[in-house]
Amino acid sequence: MGSLEVSGVSVVFGGHRALDGVGMTAEPGQVTGLIGPNGAGKSTLFDVVSGLRRPSSGRVVLDGRDVTRLGPARRARRGLARTFQRLELFGRLTVRDNLLVAAEMGPDRRLAGHAVTGILDRIGLHHLADTCADELSTGAARLVEVGRAMAVRPKLLLLDEPAAGQDGEETERFAALLRSLADDGTTVVLVEHDMGLVMSVCDRLHVLDLGKIIASGPPEEVRRDARVLAAYLGE
Ligand code: ADP
Ligand code: MG
Repeated sequence: MGSLEVSGVSVVFGGHRALDGVGMTAEPGQVTGLIGPNGAGKSTLFDVVSGLRRPSSGRVVLDGRDVTRLGPARRARRGLARTFQRLELFGRLTVRDNLLVAAEMGPDRRLAGHAVTGILDRIGLHHLADTCADELSTGAARLVEVGRAMAVRPKLLLLDEPAAGQDGEETERFAALLRSLADDGTTVVLVEHDMGLVMSVCDRLHVLDLGKIIASGPPEEVRRDARVLAAYLGE
């Protein structure tokens, strides 16, 4: 459970069409990549899916149910979690406490402490458990953000540039983490600029350019698509 189906979604800012009839899907057990140049509309699409922005037209369907009119809190209760491009940790709290705050909003509050230990294992940050969030490197902070999203045990996880600022080793560990989340049955949607990570970890890709989906399919196919090459090379 946790399938996502977006159809015909448009968002207009002033006169500017940030999203124009966007359709995309994401399946449980897969990492679905959402890529495209800066300003393409990726974060705006995440806002629409998570309920932070109402589209001017189109539908968002979670698990076969139309949630277009539901607010963000009700979508979260249906199993949706996301991270933001801008980091949103509690800077004065330790890594452990940042995770604990999230786990206490999850499905099994009594086991929150236990859940946090499990997440620290999976993100590989036991050694930083007692460090304040604002003392972390960007790469480590991104891992904590993902850990926080994991703490609510989401069915659908939206990650907005989670690897930005990570070093090579962190990115490698991160790729393994994404794979294991998908293997657990989570639907993972990844917005990411690191093409090495995208190509190695994604099962399917959707490419946004100027508010429109210009290609969808397996990574090997999409990377050879003429429209995708043009969008990235600016031809
Ligand atoms: P991406 O995440 O792919 O870089 P965004 O979704 O952030 O792209 O932005 C898509 C387009 O919408 C850009 O042209 C951006 O300037 C514009 N935009 C995003 N948010 C707003 C907003 N709150 N008000 C006006 N324009 C916005
Ligand atoms: Mg963005």
